[in-house]
Amino acid sequence: MLRTILLGPPGAGKGTQADRIVEKYQVPHISTGDIFRENIKNGTELGKKAQEYMNRGELVPDDLVVEIATDRLLKDDCKAGFLLDGFPRTVYQAEKLDEFLEAHGQKLDKVIDLEVGEQELMVRLTGRRVCKNCGASYHIVNIPPKKEGICDKCGGELIQRADDNEETAKNRIDVYNKETAPLVDYYEKAGNLARIDGAQPADQTFESITAALGQ
Ligand code: AMP
Repeated sequence: MLRTILLGPPGAGKGTQADRIVEKYQVPHISTGDIFRENIKNGTELGKKAQEYMNRGELVPDDLVVEIATDRLLKDDCKAGFLLDGFPRTVYQAEKLDEFLEAHGQKLDKVIDLEVGEQELMVRLTGRRVCKNCGASYHIVNIPPKKEGICDKCGGELIQRADDNEETAKNRIDVYNKETAPLVDYYEKAGNLARIDGAQPADQTFESITAALGQ
């Protein structure tokens, strides 16, 4: 049983570490960004609503996000715990999550804050490429695929996320500093924050995370 949140700016490596955490702890990976991208791909109403905000690097309105996140947390697979990635992103969302957990007799075990400097974040975001087919993540310099533009895992085409261009990436970091960074304080006060150096190589970052989770 593990109930945890992965906090950190865009480009800190939340997706990469989330994949490893869910494999080790066997909990569902709940990424609100992934849920939105899936809805955009499928042309749903939710996707249409979210897309305009996402393309500008802005946050999708709180009430919409809280609804989709709490709906997801009500699914059976979350009884064994969960890993939240990219939610909550505002103090309001964190308060709503606390209300939800309290109403369901649940408590967070840990909040992992992945810390990476801004310059490094920009390098990571603008160089990121993702597989159109399976979502696997690469970096043109740090984690290049074996064959340029092609996913090692499934042979799918590698593309740049629409919001990973320089201007939108910069805006996402600014939005993070303004809206999401206060959550570090919020969870520190709650007493369950673990600060992790996300600038380390991915393997070492994962070791630091498992040490903090202590299970
Ligand atoms: P991510 O994949 O987590 O980087 O999210 C991509 C985009 O989805 C963000 O830049 C936001 O526009 C939107 N998004 C994802 N999660 C949230 C959230 N918890 N609150 C508001 N917007 C979100």
